[in-house]
Amino acid sequence: MLLGTGDAAGTPKAGCICQNCQYALEHDVQRLRTSLLIENEGHYVLIDSGPDLRRQLIEIQKRFGSLPKIDAVIWTHGHFDHFMGFGEFYRVQKIPHIYGTDDVMDYCTPFFSFLVSENKQHRKKPYEPFELIGLTWTLVQVTHPPTPTYGVVIEPPPGADQRWRMGYTSDTNRDIPKASYDLFTGLDLLFIDGIFPNEVVKVEKHLNYEEAMELAQELDARSYYIVHMSHYLSFNTPHAGHDGDVFEL
Ligand SMILES: [Zn+2]
Ligand SMILES: [Zn+2]
Ligand SMILES: [Zn+2]
Repeated sequence: MLLGTGDAAGTPKAGCICQNCQYALEHDVQRLRTSLLIENEGHYVLIDSGPDLRRQLIEIQKRFGSLPKIDAVIWTHGHFDHFMGFGEFYRVQKIPHIYGTDDVMDYCTPFFSFLVSENKQHRKKPYEPFELIGLTWTLVQVTHPPTPTYGVVIEPPPGADQRWRMGYTSDTNRDIPKASYDLFTGLDLLFIDGIFPNEVVKVEKHLNYEEAMELAQELDARSYYIVHMSHYLSFNTPHAGHDGDVFEL
C-alpha cells in the first residue's frame, strides 16, 4: 500500500494557492510524504518513515479496520522526509527493527538513540540480498547527490513457487549505477521518483516526471507508478501513484 506519494513539502503545500493545491484542499485529497508498506503472510515492512507517519498509521487503520504491527522499517536515506517520523511509533506499537546500509544508519540512528537499541539495528550491504518477512530484499545504490541513497528490489525467496520482482526508488536522478540499472530492469512493478514536470524546473538530484516515464519504459517495467511528486503535478497525471493505492503481486 502506498502510504504517501508526495515530495518533501507534500501536496497541498502549506500556504500554496496553485490550482493543484486548491484542488487538494477542496477535494480533501493529499500527497503525504512518500512511503510504501509491504505485507507478506501477515507481516509488515515499511519503506521509509517520513514526518507523516502518524497520519499514515491512522489511514492504514481506517482502511483495514485495525492497525497491524509493523515488524521493520527500511530507511533509504537520511533526508527529513524519509526517516524523521520514526518517533511516531513511540507508545503506539513495539518499536520496529530498522534496516539500512552503514552510511544511512550512521546518519539516521543517532536521532533516535532514545528509542532504538543496538539489537534493533540491522546493517546491510548494498547488492547483498537478505530475508525479511519471507521475502528477499536487496538495497541498490541510486544517485541523489550529495546524500548516499538506496533503492529497494523485493522478490520471493529462491525456490518459491511464485516469481515476481518489484522495485522502489523515490529519490534518484537518471545516473543510476549499472548494477542497479540491471536489477531494476524487467520488474513486474516499479515505483519511481518523478518530482517536477519539465516545464517547471530541473534539479540535479531527482528525476523529473517525463524522465521517470521514459526510464520506466526503458527499464521495461510491466507496470509502474510515479511517486515523490511535487504539487506541480496534478492528481490525474498518467501513471501517478495515489496515497492509499494497494497493489497485489
Ligand atoms: Zn501548490
Ligand atoms: Zn531525498
Ligand atoms: Zn525525498
